[in-house]
Amino acid sequence: MSNSEFALIDRYFRSLGAIRADVIVGVGDDGAVLRPPDGHDVVAVLDTIVAGRHFPRQTAAASIAHRALAVNLSDLAAMAAQPAWMLLSLTMERADTSWLDDFAAALDALALRFGVALVGGDTVRGPLAITVQASGFVPTGRQLTRSGARPGDLLYVSGTLGDAAAGLAIAESAAASLVTGDYLRRRFDFPEPRVELGLQLRDFASACIDVSDGLFADLSRMAASSGCGAELELMDLPLSGALLDAHGRESAQRLAMTGGDDYELCFAVPPQLSRAFERLAKPCQVTRIGQFVTGEGVVVRSAGAVIEFSHSGFDHFTS
Ligand code: ADP
Ligand code: MG
Repeated sequence: MSNSEFALIDRYFRSLGAIRADVIVGVGDDGAVLRPPDGHDVVAVLDTIVAGRHFPRQTAAASIAHRALAVNLSDLAAMAAQPAWMLLSLTMERADTSWLDDFAAALDALALRFGVALVGGDTVRGPLAITVQASGFVPTGRQLTRSGARPGDLLYVSGTLGDAAAGLAIAESAAASLVTGDYLRRRFDFPEPRVELGLQLRDFASACIDVSDGLFADLSRMAASSGCGAELELMDLPLSGALLDAHGRESAQRLAMTGGDDYELCFAVPPQLSRAFERLAKPCQVTRIGQFVTGEGVVVRSAGAVIEFSHSGFDHFTS
């Protein structure tokens, strides 16, 4: 690599995020050497976000950095893993120092919050795209997967749903700068990975998935992996006041079901653990929205009545 690339890596990425004793060799060599704790397995995740595909081209560097790591932390949370390390592949058209200042500062801030060290990566020229590969630990055998739900288990989601899809619509129509006052837009630009909740769920959940493609799609995947069905009640979906104000209830429910980029956790709790789980102090809002059932697919109810639902929306909304 050229001297300027070396200088760039040195300036921005040599020391980013947490300093961890389990990083034996970090940025600067041909590879990282990492030491997981005894009695733990490593959970590895990777996500790529591409300008114009996963975020609007005019998105601020701070949001791009935050989302690139947050989507990976959300995957680790869904596996009940404690985050530890990340690798960063940064593809960009040119080295713009003010963009890189903002990008590195936001990545550093989120990495520090969750104790993640940047241990290596790659820096290349090309259309803007960011890949983060993150790793975390789980005590042997304690990971959560999508496939563990059983009929009778209760269905919960964290946070509120649909905000990010509404925020993305705002971002796509807005000018370049961050509108920090806008709650919905922040929910797209700066998703909060539910890492602490994921760790709590080790003791309660039978299965977990993070909601990245919309609740209906992700819950359908979880039910299929678990070999059962699921039922949910639209009236019980957690919706933010901002989303209800901006869109009204029916449209908000549709965004909650089909909008993407929420990065909330959707999980199953066996009935015998639900009382203890509901009494537990939690790091974020958690709402029961339904249950797993024998059969297959996702049955959607509105005030108790089953409604026809497809990926394109609710039939009664299109009539
Ligand atoms: P190589 O030619 O061996 O692939 P590179 O020139 O790509 O090495 O990278 C040199 C060092 O800098 C490596 O340790 C690599 O992990 C690290 N590195 C490169 N780009 C990044 C980045 N964006 N973030 C963190 N570390 C990086
Ligand atoms: Mg390289």
